[in-house]
Amino acid sequence: MSKSEGVIKFRMDFVEAAALTAVQLTEINAWRKVLVIMGMIGQTPERYDNYGFGNISRRLLADELPGYDHPFVISGTQTGGVADLAPEHYATVLWCRPAENHVSAQGPMRPSSESMTHGVVYEMDSRINWVFHAHDPYIWQQRVALDLPTTADGVPYGSPEMSAEVGRLFRETEVAQRGIFAMGGHVDGIVTFGATAEEAGSVLLHHLASAIRLSYS
Ligand SMILES: [Zn+2]
Repeated sequence: MSKSEGVIKFRMDFVEAAALTAVQLTEINAWRKVLVIMGMIGQTPERYDNYGFGNISRRLLADELPGYDHPFVISGTQTGGVADLAPEHYATVLWCRPAENHVSAQGPMRPSSESMTHGVVYEMDSRINWVFHAHDPYIWQQRVALDLPTTADGVPYGSPEMSAEVGRLFRETEVAQRGIFAMGGHVDGIVTFGATAEEAGSVLLHHLASAIRLSYS
């Protein structure tokens, strides 16, 4: 991971707006807590120069936020160190334009610096409603043995090249069926996704167990 983890690299239009309701955030908050417990979202001096890592999002339904193609709610920037998030810790991304590296967002705080990657995944497949960005050394180190679709090693997170790489994976690999890819140029970076949070979470846990098994051999 580069030392600039956590630094927002894209252009962002951000407007202060009220938080979503606690009811809208119950499920995402529960799954975020699971990732915190597993050490896949967090912040510690022992990892990545104490930058917050990992984030989670879900697509907003048309009746929650009409008028946008694929808006989503995502944990706010540098919230990895907060054990339990409140509605004030989430942001809404209204749209992403990956080619221009441009994001429009609103909420009580700014979205995660990895919002663009989430946005590209939602754009790729309308059936995807959840995206988990976990940091896991077991899965990442076994990414070749697990035959994971992987973004190119030289491509840093949050860059237009990363958006293009995610698009390439959807065109050229089985990533849509697998529900998981590794970020080759972003240490420990794993993304899982699915129609439901259970799908995204199951794929993550399944690969964690497989990676730990491989690490024993
Ligand atoms: Zn990351």
